[in-house]
Amino acid sequence: MSTQRIYLNTPQQTHVVTTVVATRPGAFAVAASPFFVGGGGQPVDTGVVSVDGANQRIEHVEVDAEDHIWHHSAAVVMPGQAVDLVVDKQRRRTISRYHTALHVLNTLALTHYQAWITGAQMTEDYARIDFAIEWLDPVMLADLEARMNAVLVAYHPVHYRYLSVAEFAERSDLLRTKNVQPPAYRGQVRVVEIEGFDAQACGGTHAESTHEVGPCCIYKSENKGKQNKRLYIRFA
Ligand SMILES: [Zn+2]
Repeated sequence: MSTQRIYLNTPQQTHVVTTVVATRPGAFAVAASPFFVGGGGQPVDTGVVSVDGANQRIEHVEVDAEDHIWHHSAAVVMPGQAVDLVVDKQRRRTISRYHTALHVLNTLALTHYQAWITGAQMTEDYARIDFAIEWLDPVMLADLEARMNAVLVAYHPVHYRYLSVAEFAERSDLLRTKNVQPPAYRGQVRVVEIEGFDAQACGGTHAESTHEVGPCCIYKSENKGKQNKRLYIRFA
């Protein structure tokens, strides 16, 4: 049986009491986990496992072919044992806020500059995003930043819904990357909607609203090639 991915439907839940289902040296798999497993430029969650009142760090998680989420930790546990899993909430929230800001930025870049994403990365300190565009100038950067902040300071709630792979195939408007199809999970594609602004396919975690993100600045840009420009953002 695979690990239930709590972050998919209740991303605000960062703590669970669950059961160990398998172990190997330095790692264990559980029935349910709040840990984000990585993807789309968002790193995996870190956190703590608590066993009989003793805490151990979890610095990495990974998914195996059977869809178990393995938690890498020095904790000594046995199959059938109950464990407390707690995600580093502040780190998750910061990265989720950056992730949400990138949705806003990528939608504006596509709408106003026909710029498709070629890559992204979120950290606790900043986020960056690459676009397939030939040119970038200060006027464009200032325009994108102003448009982004108009959305980020307003209140647009974030919602999740699911489409079948067949339904999704009819909805090219939900794509922000040209060459990479979003991963379908159990025959479904997850759609992240910023109410009144945008909807796009994404498997990551996000803020509960744009207002929770707040204003950001585009503090740096880099020319990564003729058809690739990189923008860096951080909280203003
Ligand atoms: Zn996303």
